[in-house]
Amino acid sequence: ATPLSVTIGTGKGAQAGVLIRSAAALESLHGLKVLVLDKTGTITEGKPTVTDILPKDLDDQTLALIASAEQNSEHPLAQAIVERAQQSSASLHKAERFTAVAGQGIVAEVGDHRVVVGNATMLKHQHIPVEGTNAEDLLKQSRKLAAEGKTPVAAAIDGTLVAVMAIADAVKEDSKSAVSELKQRGIDIYMITGDGRNTAESIARQVGIEHVIAEVLPEGKAAKIKELQRNNTVVGMVGDGINDAPALAQANIGIAIGTGTDIAIESSDVTLMSGKLTGVVTAIDLSRATMRNIR
Ligand code: ADP
Ligand code: MG
Repeated sequence: ATPLSVTIGTGKGAQAGVLIRSAAALESLHGLKVLVLDKTGTITEGKPTVTDILPKDLDDQTLALIASAEQNSEHPLAQAIVERAQQSSASLHKAERFTAVAGQGIVAEVGDHRVVVGNATMLKHQHIPVEGTNAEDLLKQSRKLAAEGKTPVAAAIDGTLVAVMAIADAVKEDSKSAVSELKQRGIDIYMITGDGRNTAESIARQVGIEHVIAEVLPEGKAAKIKELQRNNTVVGMVGDGINDAPALAQANIGIAIGTGTDIAIESSDVTLMSGKLTGVVTAIDLSRATMRNIR
């Protein structure tokens, strides 16, 4: 039978907007040693916007061409680019032969043009030269933007690098205090992301996280959780996205952001209704109080 204290514990959690699915979850939370936080949408708001466009005088037609290719992507970065282009005077066109490469970017044909948008790996795989004065200058500036915690996204048209857009996603207001409170409770905090290392490390610094696992392909997140679980370490994972679902299921405790995707919530033991990371602190404190009462 469920002890009364567990019922009280989960009841208190629900009142605080922290839905704990089972007594077992409440128990695992008590032994939590390592907590892995997804970056985009978990530590940050997940509502990226374009903050910089390089070169500064990029014409609206080119921007529209890039956005036209991104229209078919569901990626938040793509949405930011489309929104930005819609604010300009040029109109978007229909794209054909659209392909998305997970963790890298997209390629599509717009009219007579072949458009590639994505990170450095995407450029490499698409054989876009990054030598030559223009490209080198663009990439140098893009490294500066990454150091500010922005995600640089490169765009090439017909095999030539033509632009870099910096996309910023604000850190949630309570992320830093949540990390500090979790550390005070003796928990090791990791950040995991498909984003580039420099961008990830800059965001990690802003919220006080020292351990950063960056440039992870979507299917790689669960494998990283498994590695951290060696020696029976109890590992929790907090995430919001479709690509977080396998990692949430692999973790001893999967914790979903309530405003995230349904599949992330379904793969989890705990749901943070408000989406705030301080909800994890609430869950841990409840589990500790509950386990004290059981013993
Ligand atoms: P995250 O863990 O931050 O959600 P993803 O695995 O979704 O990361 O993406 C990793 C990286 O791949 C992005 O930071 C970006 O550089 C690139 N990328 C993925 N999809 C797109 C896209 N549609 N347009 C541009 N870049 C993309
Ligand atoms: Mg995410």
